Amino acid sequence: MNVEDFRRIGHELIDWIADYREKAYGGEFPVMTRVAPGAVKAELPAAPPDAPEPFDAVMRDLNNVIVPACTHFQDPRFFGYFPANSSLSAVLGDYVSTGLAQLGLNWQASPALTELEEVTVDWLRQMLDLSAAWSGVIQDTASTTTLVALLCARERATNYGAARGGLQESEQPLVVYASSQSHSSVDKAALLAGFGRNNLRVVPVNDCYAMRADALDEAIRADRARGLKPCAVVATTGSTATTALDPLADIAKVAKAHGLWMHVDAAMAGSAMILPECRQMWDGVEQADSLVINPHKWLGASFDASVYFVRDPEHLVRVMSTNPSYLRTAADSRVKNFRDWGIPLGRRFRALKLWFLIREQGVSGLQARIRRDIGHAQWFATQVDAAPAWKRVAPAPLQTVCVRHELPGLSDDALDTHTLAWVRRINESGQAYLTPAMLDGRWMVRVSFGVETTEHEHVVQLWKLMQDQAEGGA
Ligand code: PLP
Repeated sequence: MNVEDFRRIGHELIDWIADYREKAYGGEFPVMTRVAPGAVKAELPAAPPDAPEPFDAVMRDLNNVIVPACTHFQDPRFFGYFPANSSLSAVLGDYVSTGLAQLGLNWQASPALTELEEVTVDWLRQMLDLSAAWSGVIQDTASTTTLVALLCARERATNYGAARGGLQESEQPLVVYASSQSHSSVDKAALLAGFGRNNLRVVPVNDCYAMRADALDEAIRADRARGLKPCAVVATTGSTATTALDPLADIAKVAKAHGLWMHVDAAMAGSAMILPECRQMWDGVEQADSLVINPHKWLGASFDASVYFVRDPEHLVRVMSTNPSYLRTAADSRVKNFRDWGIPLGRRFRALKLWFLIREQGVSGLQARIRRDIGHAQWFATQVDAAPAWKRVAPAPLQTVCVRHELPGLSDDALDTHTLAWVRRINESGQAYLTPAMLDGRWMVRVSFGVETTEHEHVVQLWKLMQDQAEGGA
């Protein structure tokens, strides 16, 4: 494609994205796609075209095959999972990133990429009111970030054992602790970092689904007594099922007393910490060793942008650095080389989308939106609390409300069937999208607010739809 064709088609594509967003914002698509498994593949040739194709043909397939098989995360009636907001300013930032085609192998390969990342991540630090003791770097996802955190924990506990025989030479197995409500990425990270399933402890939670610091302490003592070596605890601010808030200050005390690395997974709820009134939810965060926040969730920075904050960047660099001769430059002693702050060597210019977003919305604009979303959850929780037969099954400190419609006289299994049936009816109707999840072994439905375009009217409509589908269909 030459530059002139790019200019012409690119303009058309921007119009196409704008049209798509208008339709998605206006609720013109079923929120959850209705296609059957295999439907997309069936529409596409199995082999690549030998001859060049006109771009019109690509656009036709985009409209006829791709869009109908998309779930519309930016639709105001999307209340599933967690929001994956992609503000239009961030979309443009991503466009520029791809257009500039920078590859941040080291500072010299793209000073702009490195230094804009430093600046933007430090803006985020200030927005979160974290102390200047934290340094940040952008990773792809919280899953990668938590893996990096556990690798750092492992290397601290083994005095950089990877440079010798690694975990294979260790006589004392290292143990990682997380609550039963922690995200599956924590298990995955612990397994990939070589701790082994047997050395991953599930710490019990209290009535609010938050980790019990006393139970953590007990588990650590028991492991010590068995000759194991407690290594790291992953605490969650805003768990995935119910946005539970682990008591960071209490956990930090236990971690400190036993010399554990403390990592905080605030992938979702971190965005809310730009609000002063929310910051008591992560009281004690300053005592942690590392922290992850996903601006690609609630904040709106477009997937993927996960920020890893650490208190000891030198340790991180020592764990991650390989420093081959072909990547060394004369500037190395005066700059940051982010290849040594994570797993990949090559680095996209991800900071652009976060920078565009923060500049276009301003901190106050972002705060107003997050506040609005918490307000939606509070209004919704009040309706549920006042409605007979509806039960809120967990506290709702942020933007997720967990509910069940409980018909009297139903057995637990029948209640599960009822729950899954009404949520399926809603999702299949295309009028809203909700995610069911297990809590205490029973199904409930998470109503997750926070899509950028969701306004009060959509929340009112959702509540009516839920009542119609659960009560009418019962
Ligand atoms: N941690 C929490 C609390 C989450 O809710 C999620 C995803 O929803 C993750 C981690 C994983 O995020 P990612 O997709 O960035 O790996």
